[in-house]
Amino acid sequence: MSTPSFPAAADVLATVSKKLYIAGSWSDAAGGLTMPVDDPATGETLCEVADASPADGRRALAAAEDAQEKWAATAPRARSEILRRAYELILERADALAALMTAEMGKPLAEARGEAAYAAEFFRWFSEEAVRIDGGFATMPDGRNRMLLMRRPVGPCLLITPWNFPLAMGTRKIGPAIAAGCTMVLKPAPQTPLSSLALAGILEEAGLPPGVLNVVTTSRAGEVVEPLLTGGQIRKLSFTGSTQVGRTLLAQCAPAVVRTSMELGGNAPFIVFDDADLDVAVEGAMMAKMRNMGEACTAANRFFVHRSVAAEFADRLARRMGALEVGPGSRPGVDVGPLIDRAGREKVEELVADAVARGAEVLVGGSTPDGPGCFYPPTVLTGVDTASRLMETEIFGPVAAILTFDDEDEVVATANATEWGLVGYVFTRELNRALRMSERLEVGMVGLNTGLVSNPAAPFGGVKQSGLGREGGRVGIDEFLEYKYVAVPV
Ligand code: NAP
Repeated sequence: MSTPSFPAAADVLATVSKKLYIAGSWSDAAGGLTMPVDDPATGETLCEVADASPADGRRALAAAEDAQEKWAATAPRARSEILRRAYELILERADALAALMTAEMGKPLAEARGEAAYAAEFFRWFSEEAVRIDGGFATMPDGRNRMLLMRRPVGPCLLITPWNFPLAMGTRKIGPAIAAGCTMVLKPAPQTPLSSLALAGILEEAGLPPGVLNVVTTSRAGEVVEPLLTGGQIRKLSFTGSTQVGRTLLAQCAPAVVRTSMELGGNAPFIVFDDADLDVAVEGAMMAKMRNMGEACTAANRFFVHRSVAAEFADRLARRMGALEVGPGSRPGVDVGPLIDRAGREKVEELVADAVARGAEVLVGGSTPDGPGCFYPPTVLTGVDTASRLMETEIFGPVAAILTFDDEDEVVATANATEWGLVGYVFTRELNRALRMSERLEVGMVGLNTGLVSNPAAPFGGVKQSGLGREGGRVGIDEFLEYKYVAVPV
């Protein structure tokens, strides 16, 4: 397989607009304010981008409102073809987009390239869904009345995304919104605005009409977003981020009864039974723990391993994790890039210190390296106490915390003893147990003998305080459509 040749981040940066994208034009923020975008591998500032004010937010919303009626009336095939062209453009430019993502977020280039392909796939999937929006016709039970059932776009949407998957979290929302005929304002995370600005450029090139997508980068999310949600013009909020911020936004949606989709935090259990294929389980653990340096909502947060295989599993995992190369994501051969920022790394350090103070043993890693950049080594902890803070906190870093269990009822009870319910992983060769566990775990998704569940064709989302609604799959577009029933007496 040939190695892709990634362009230099500086060259890609020069091609991306640093302005707000509103009504099809690139404009400065009010007062010309800007904010820095930093490289987490060096701590140095890559560039400045526009820092929107509440007035800029209102301008973006007005553009989305103005474009809504015409966009809803645009032929589904036309909407579909714009998405298809954008899908192709992302793939054509996957190396450049990867270089950009690595520069602003830190993940290794190969992973960033994987994200570009994953992100593009949402556009291909929803280009196919745009022309399959159904409706209905029925004779009512009384035999006289008829029912027409229409699907209509919900209207202007607000999309808020996190920094950990800067491109894919955008396409997972923009794809179904475009397909459904909604206009939108996108507010990306301030750490990673460049991927979203590049994406806006690609959609513009693919023929997306002015005002359908508006991108507002800001360091004042609360001030910009709250008036949009309470004002009554936004008809839908699609949010991906922490549960804590999700709760605040749900409260802000209440006064104007704004529809919401919430993709929130996780606390995934990773369960290995005594009959599991340990090669498969360790491979799955590497994927579920180390994808994105552990900075994923789907990251395995708590490993529960049957007592009879725990030592061997921990030893194998520690050897695999210890062999990973840590360094700047742009350096060839690096497997583990920096964490997003100093605060993110301090959180990981504190969680590890707390677990160790409660008796955990460090098999590998566990100490912060000197030097610039927010690096943290792959770390395996065994003998973790259930009272440790990491049992109830998303680690969001490359730390595998291993506990043991003796029987199925016990592990189900401990795994479910959390407010979150995004995903769970189960490793066993017994079919009945696999199905039983899939039913018993209180989660929206289960990885059975696999550490990867994300797929644009599958409904992604959680239960309990991990979220509301689903993204992707056949149901992903439903989040952006309303039913309208027309009564027809004949
Ligand atoms: P976050 O702090 O909740 O921020 C997410 C987004 O919300 C950012 O754009 C942020 O901008 C914005 N935001 C924060 N406060 C806001 C407010 N008061 N009003 C409007 N917007 C506000 O989360 P994060 O640290 O970026 O991302 C990590 C979290 O996302 C983790 O909990 C992870 O599990 C979750 N996540 C979930 C999924 C999923 O599909 N379930 C996928 C990926 C990530 P500012 O930073 O400027 O405040």
